Amino acid sequence: MRKKIVAGNWKMNCNLDETKTLLKEIKDKTNTLNNNTQLIVAPAFTNLLTAAEFLKETNIKVAAQNVHAEEKGAFTGEISVDMLSSVGVKTVILGHSERRKYFGETKPLLNKKVNTALRHGFEVIFCVGESLEEREKNNHFKVIEEQLDKSLFYIKKETWKKIVIAYEPVWAIGTGKTASAKQAQEMHAFIRELIAQKYDQATADGVSILYGGSVKPENSTELFAQKDVDGGLIGGAALNAESFIKIANSF
Ligand code: PEP
Repeated sequence: MRKKIVAGNWKMNCNLDETKTLLKEIKDKTNTLNNNTQLIVAPAFTNLLTAAEFLKETNIKVAAQNVHAEEKGAFTGEISVDMLSSVGVKTVILGHSERRKYFGETKPLLNKKVNTALRHGFEVIFCVGESLEEREKNNHFKVIEEQLDKSLFYIKKETWKKIVIAYEPVWAIGTGKTASAKQAQEMHAFIRELIAQKYDQATADGVSILYGGSVKPENSTELFAQKDVDGGLIGGAALNAESFIKIANSF
């Protein structure tokens, strides 16, 4: 059985006090969870230690939103895998479209980041997604295949247990536009088939593939009902504890 996951990407939101408040609200609401969905929260770097300590005795995991590809050295302003490990964080989001777009993260760089993270025992939530233009040109399958091929399909078969994929069509992130359940299922099935071809069916069947892009309690039930949709990577709606838990209760 694949793991069901609902992960909240808090992006550059919530200072320390706001982080503490939101974490407490989420933690307090976990007793209303009606399934065993894995919850993950990804606050900003400065609040990871607080989050990791606050959630220590819970089943909620803490993820970083990024990590540097190198282990240490003269990389001013960057954060390493060891720094994350030392504050109790062993999960990282990589390849988010905002990192690709605003910070120039390329497929080869992401490949390096994935390798570094895996080498240090991290779980990686790896994001892929096409732009609106790419979808309108009917290039979306090719774009996703290339993103996976150039950044992820080098990893060893054994390490797939540490990978979660998030399909996030760029045109649906923060726009209020959601992919239809049919569009999400179609792409998730395509991704799973690629993994089966490149590795094997058992590996493909074991990978949780999350959908991301304007997921909210109003659309999560239909999205999560799709055969190959194993949960969501949530942006805006993850900043509200009630919505976040409602989404987690949508399976
Ligand atoms: C995201 O940034 O990963 C995301 C899915 O954002 P939103 O839910 O706000 O579209």
